[in-house]
Amino acid sequence: MTETLLEIDDLSVDYETARGDLKALRDIAFDVRKGEIVGIVGESGCGKSTLISAILRLVAPNTRFRKGEVRFKGQNLLQNSERQMRSLRGGEISIVFQDPMQTHNPVISIGRQMVDIQHRSTASKAEKRDKAAQMLAAVGIPDPVVRLRQFPHEFSGGMRQRIAIAMALMSGPDLLIADEPTTALDATLEVQIIERLKELQKDVGCAILFISHHLGVIAELCDRVVVMYAGAVVESGTVREIFHNPKHPYTRRLIECDPGHIKERARILPTIPGEVPDLANLPKGCIFRDRCEQAMDRCATMPPLARLSEGHNAACWLNHEEVPA
Ligand code: SF4
Repeated sequence: MTETLLEIDDLSVDYETARGDLKALRDIAFDVRKGEIVGIVGESGCGKSTLISAILRLVAPNTRFRKGEVRFKGQNLLQNSERQMRSLRGGEISIVFQDPMQTHNPVISIGRQMVDIQHRSTASKAEKRDKAAQMLAAVGIPDPVVRLRQFPHEFSGGMRQRIAIAMALMSGPDLLIADEPTTALDATLEVQIIERLKELQKDVGCAILFISHHLGVIAELCDRVVVMYAGAVVESGTVREIFHNPKHPYTRRLIECDPGHIKERARILPTIPGEVPDLANLPKGCIFRDRCEQAMDRCATMPPLARLSEGHNAACWLNHEEVPA
């Protein structure tokens, strides 16, 4: 079996607020193996962003790690010093953020930013500039040597996001975290960036943790998928299992509501009725119960994330034969 790179083990994270503790992540467990692409999918408020912040330890002051571990190459990042984390970020772990408009410094040329980001390298400035030009070419920016002299506002949104991906890959990371990197782009650019990312991932050989609410992108890019709802993992499995044999009602509803899966013309796009529960005041039992059309009495008890087959897990009583004691 391929070596595990990142392990999230029983991770629970709260935000302390005036209303009480907001239980942003609860008992999260999954892993990312070397060279694989894992997608995290779920509605807004499901905990995707908190999960990334927790992995990178870039958290708000009111964040409390209640339990669990985040292991990268076997080392628990939650016990690392800030200095150790700084050396990992932008080195072995890189990130691409959602908004390409805010990724770059607007008053510094792209070339200088791409040279500066290689500050750990002992190469000469000319070599660093050559490498920057090579990476720009690799992400499909024409005339890279000329374009290194330009400033961020001289590039389109799609090009800026390509440059952000180039910069994230320059350190040769083992893990690239991509936080909704195509959400701000139109559909054509999204397809181009996903294709390019797939090619580059093969070249660099890194694993990718790809966060998105866009199921089509997840299906196109990823090997495995983790479905999150209200701060918990409700299902995980291979792309085939999640999209062709989903076992959690929330996953099924997400797929039904995805515009890519709607065959007939519709004036109003379908949505999942109801709202994500208040994380400061979570309901008892299954967290999806208030929105689930198949809810039953036993759902008043929290279903465990049960193993349905090798690598396919779901937290729903519909997949259990026995009524819980
Ligand atoms: Fe629906 Fe019950 Fe399954 Fe929760 S456990 S998703 S409420 S059927």
